[in-house]
Amino acid sequence: MTKEKTETKKEPVKDKKLQFAFYWAASCGGCEIAVLDIDEKILDVVAAADILFWPVAMDIKYKDVEAMEDKSIDVCFFNGAIRTEEQEHIAKLLRKKAKALVAFGACAANGGIPGLANIANKEEVFNVAYLDNPSTDNPKKITPKTSVKVKEGTLTLPEFYDTVKSLNQVVDVDYYLPGCPPPTDLILNAVTAIVDLKNLRRKSKQSNGSMKSIRLRRNVSLSKESSA
Ligand code: SF4
Repeated sequence: MTKEKTETKKEPVKDKKLQFAFYWAASCGGCEIAVLDIDEKILDVVAAADILFWPVAMDIKYKDVEAMEDKSIDVCFFNGAIRTEEQEHIAKLLRKKAKALVAFGACAANGGIPGLANIANKEEVFNVAYLDNPSTDNPKKITPKTSVKVKEGTLTLPEFYDTVKSLNQVVDVDYYLPGCPPPTDLILNAVTAIVDLKNLRRKSKQSNGSMKSIRLRRNVSLSKESSA
């Protein structure tokens, strides 16, 4: 009986795409529109990266994010400030799941427009929004509660905080992308820098080069300092 030499064919190692996530907290939605404003360049983003989580565009649940491995998202772009318990929870969750967290836009970086509400407290904000507004008809003077019993059960809402916080007041932030919203070319520069960095790292690995020597190009628009 002869032994046949079995050769295992080596499959070429597939280059794994980057894994991105987008989230909006206390936001006007303008930052989400800014992402779409990169027009057909969004196809380049999709070619370079999988988008794992983007509530404005995809039907994905928080439990799906909770099930992801820690640091399985390469970059999370987080827009909007932190006004509620839910937003703080998701900021902490995404911080755990993402290698790099980007404060995207003025609201995430500094509180932005929602932060102007910090001249008032929660009660004053509710009075204006639900009671004293001339266009509001609310004879029972109902304001949002974190828990309300109805005949079908208990309805809950996340707690509305007394003040607005910037993203870095609840979690560590790696990069800041300024603007209200960040301009298109800044967004593209940031994404290009991330893709370039990944390609450099891949080339470095292939040539056994030192990854320590690889840094973001100096002229990219991702900034460690908030300048919004
Ligand atoms: S930074 Fe400006 S555009 Fe973005 S969510 Fe805040 S207010 Fe809207």
